[in-house]
Amino acid sequence: MSTVLYDSVIFGPVKSRRLGVSLGVNLLPVNVKLCSFDCIYCECGLAQKGVTGKQPTRDEVRGALEDRLMRMHQNGDPLDVITFAGNGEPTLHHEFKQIIEDTIRLRNEYFPNVKISVLSNATMLHRQDVVEALKMVDNNILKLDSGIEETAHLIDSPHQPHYSVASTVEGMKQFHGDFIMQTMFLRGTVGDRVVDNTTDEEVSAWIEVVKQAAPKKVMIYSIDRETPIQTLEKVAKEEMQLIADRLRSLGFSVDVA
Ligand code: SF4
Repeated sequence: MSTVLYDSVIFGPVKSRRLGVSLGVNLLPVNVKLCSFDCIYCECGLAQKGVTGKQPTRDEVRGALEDRLMRMHQNGDPLDVITFAGNGEPTLHHEFKQIIEDTIRLRNEYFPNVKISVLSNATMLHRQDVVEALKMVDNNILKLDSGIEETAHLIDSPHQPHYSVASTVEGMKQFHGDFIMQTMFLRGTVGDRVVDNTTDEEVSAWIEVVKQAAPKKVMIYSIDRETPIQTLEKVAKEEMQLIADRLRSLGFSVDVA
């Protein structure tokens, strides 16, 4: 199994399928996954019990980001987006809002046309500082992998026992449509359980929660790399286009990656 764990605060730039030339920011410990989910498809691998690490401080993030942006600016390197992702859930950082404020200042100084994106699993939307920070970024990209509670728990394995699709949708409503919803479509087995969020029942339930949350855009994608659970299958792009078309017919903007 080959999964990816980043060994630094700043990584890339990489060419992202969805975002363009992207410089990554990892607010999680290096070489260790730290997340409020343990998704069966996670490219970081499954969480390892008892393995911990130290998150970078606000000063460390600002210093590393400024150093890289300054050098890229001097070299005339291309850049489309600064993306908060990395070894887990970025909004778990207790200084997330302050780090976003620093990033906006640095972006404005070195690359004023570059966007700032955050890839989040939307589990921290009960924290007002996180919501305020996400309102400040250009691409607030929030995960929701199923409209059915049982399937969402099976795919995402949330650590919080009170996690629910319903409360996640309520959290998303705080952005009044100014966010992007991201959904992973897959099928396969997890132990002796079948997982498939592409069935008609699943897609219908998912469309209902998309309608309630009302994002400005929806991004759907499937497995791109090896997954920690190897009994999962990629969903073909043509099939995802049919799912996207159902949502587009309701007036939503949908990207299929
Ligand atoms: S939310 Fe992202 S980082 Fe966390 S387990 Fe899922 S895929 Fe991995």
